Amino acid sequence: MTRARLILLNAALGPLDYRVPHGMSVEPGQIVVAPLGPRPMIGVVWDEGSFPDVETVGDNRLRPLLGVVDAPPLPAPLRRLIEWTADYYLAPPAAVLRMALASLSALEGGKTVIEYRQSGALPDRMTPQRLQALERIGERQGLVRELATIGDVSDAVIRGLIKQGALEAVEVSTDLPFPEPDPDHAHVDLSAEQQAAADRLIEQVRERDFHAVMLDGVTGSGKTEVYFEAIAQALRQDSQTLVLLPEIALTEPFLDRFAARFGHAPVAWHSGLKQSDRRRAWRAISRGEAKVVVGARSALFLPYPKLGLIIVDEAHETSFKQEEGVRYHARDVAVMRGLMEGCPVVLASATPAIETRHQVELGRYEEIRLPARYGGAELPEIVGVDLTQDPPDRGRWIAPPLVQAMREVLDRGEQSLLFLNRRGYAPLTLCRHCGYRFQCPNCSAWMVEHRLTRRLACHHCGHAVATPDACPECKQPDALVACGPGVERIADEVKALFPEARTAIVTSDTLWSPARAAAFVRDVAGGAVDIIIGTQLVTKGYHFPELTLVGVIDADLGLDGGDLRAAERTFQQITQVSGRAGRGEKPGRVFIQTRAGEAPVIKALLDGDEAAFYAAETASRRVANAPPFGRFAAIIVSDTDAALAQETARRIGKAAPHQEGLEVYGPAEAPLSVLRGRHRWRLLVHARRSVEVQAIIRNWLSSIDWKASTRVSVDVDPYSF
Ligand code: ADP
Ligand code: ZN
Repeated sequence: MTRARLILLNAALGPLDYRVPHGMSVEPGQIVVAPLGPRPMIGVVWDEGSFPDVETVGDNRLRPLLGVVDAPPLPAPLRRLIEWTADYYLAPPAAVLRMALASLSALEGGKTVIEYRQSGALPDRMTPQRLQALERIGERQGLVRELATIGDVSDAVIRGLIKQGALEAVEVSTDLPFPEPDPDHAHVDLSAEQQAAADRLIEQVRERDFHAVMLDGVTGSGKTEVYFEAIAQALRQDSQTLVLLPEIALTEPFLDRFAARFGHAPVAWHSGLKQSDRRRAWRAISRGEAKVVVGARSALFLPYPKLGLIIVDEAHETSFKQEEGVRYHARDVAVMRGLMEGCPVVLASATPAIETRHQVELGRYEEIRLPARYGGAELPEIVGVDLTQDPPDRGRWIAPPLVQAMREVLDRGEQSLLFLNRRGYAPLTLCRHCGYRFQCPNCSAWMVEHRLTRRLACHHCGHAVATPDACPECKQPDALVACGPGVERIADEVKALFPEARTAIVTSDTLWSPARAAAFVRDVAGGAVDIIIGTQLVTKGYHFPELTLVGVIDADLGLDGGDLRAAERTFQQITQVSGRAGRGEKPGRVFIQTRAGEAPVIKALLDGDEAAFYAAETASRRVANAPPFGRFAAIIVSDTDAALAQETARRIGKAAPHQEGLEVYGPAEAPLSVLRGRHRWRLLVHARRSVEVQAIIRNWLSSIDWKASTRVSVDVDPYSF
């Protein structure tokens, strides 16, 4: 190659051509350094003939490349995936590429970095901040900045601790190899049903060909054990495996379980990694040395040179949908990556998405079912609690039948779990004297009271203030009242009902790190907790044999608002949380509190009739031409200036294409009309499957200009609206 077309790591730029100087040789995928204005910039050499629309200039006007980065070239299937993702989700290729090169520091090559950890010595002068930092840091080590974040103190406090000798320097090599998992480390006897499922997956891994599989197994059926066998096969073939998990909080128990089966933990990849771990992981992955990688959705774009298997666990989870930057759905991109790589993709879930089931019906995905729990454990008994007949006392939320059941479980020394998908103490706080309500100054949302931290916080932008004693408006003391329940308020109610019980609140506020999640699992498994009160975080993956009762505080909560997926999400969440009950030898029961017992989704839950729910929901989607039949795309226009946002949205609306099979609704104010100080307007595109939505939108938007302050983003296949 004498000239090279690069994608540079700058989302504002399209592909650019450079000259390859004499003596330098590059190939597609190579990571290089190129001049951009006065600065050097990282870029990746793309294939000859790619991006044919790029304007070219003569060789003599091209600037020369500056150098080649010492890292393996990005493999061709990954380059195809980056192109596909950029094209499908209407994102700049550079923004997608950034996810593949997630660790720019890794490109500097392997080296030794200096981190710090506690030395055991105490500082001469102990301040409250220093004490807090040391307590929170515990056994961990990291860079100054990382320790400051863990300790929730300034960098200066950490530097002070280093100076005083309380933290000592350690050299860390980022080229340390990861120990390889051993496929034969521990043997697990599978049931006949599990073995049949595992055999089918093993066969597909052997074929080294693309297959999409929906592994549909009820909670506790052993889906993990089954796909572990497929991973063992991939290891025997020296292929890499990627396991995507929905939540960072879930990784720690998973890593332990994996290590028990394979002798060593897999390589973890998520946003919480410290820099040296990230660098070490990226290098090992890109060289094919990291054999099994477990990560959040961002792990999907890493440069695996020999990917042989992709697992998406809890594939129905909404957190696989990225809502910022490149708005992609990791479940869908995972299938695409499998297609590009030529390897099987397994979507494991007890409650597969309607879209996934539909692919099975169309014959595109294969279905493997595990209809029974492992070891003869029964699925829990479902009990409906009609809140209109059996209401809780005033100002309380746990109805008498559920209180009664909790009492019995507590007396038997077993555990119960209450589920309410609302963080904090109360969703709305108002002044009973003047009616003042706490509203976020940056968003069109109420501030949520958190009593544990004595704050009012916005769940959209994070803005928080200390909870005042008096109303800020009329200054009346003690006039603030909490309206409605959050998990903290339910926890208070539990403490009042069962003062002797040991409780644990599980939300992203209390389980913000893998270490905290691991401690929670240890506490519950060790019997140190009687009653768990949690948000959707507790619906996931946990296996507690002594947990025999689940109470759903408000099954109707997610059903209000005209969200397309409200019924499906309610069904999935409640099925998943119900699946936490009775996983061991003791049978479980689930109490579902509702005022909407006649709603089809609640009825299906109470009857345990999953097939009925899917049939009804699919039928109504078909009538509405909603996904998976038709498709949507949302165009969001935002600006700090309300008038400008509206005006731009109007102009975009005026220029809307007229096309058979495609409709444009709006512009209208977006459901969250102000977010982080930006006013948001939305246009919704609704189209038949056969319509080339992306090309139409690209074309449409390219005809319109907007001010630099305005942001126009497209969400293809938006998750909720
Ligand atoms: P799922 O992912 O389908 O909810 P898991 O794989 O977590 O199910 O299995 C549920 C529980 O049953 C786990 O504790 C697991 O270790 C156990 N289990 C499943 N299959 C087997 C087996 N074949 N032998 C021993 N334990 C098993
Ligand atoms: Zn806010």
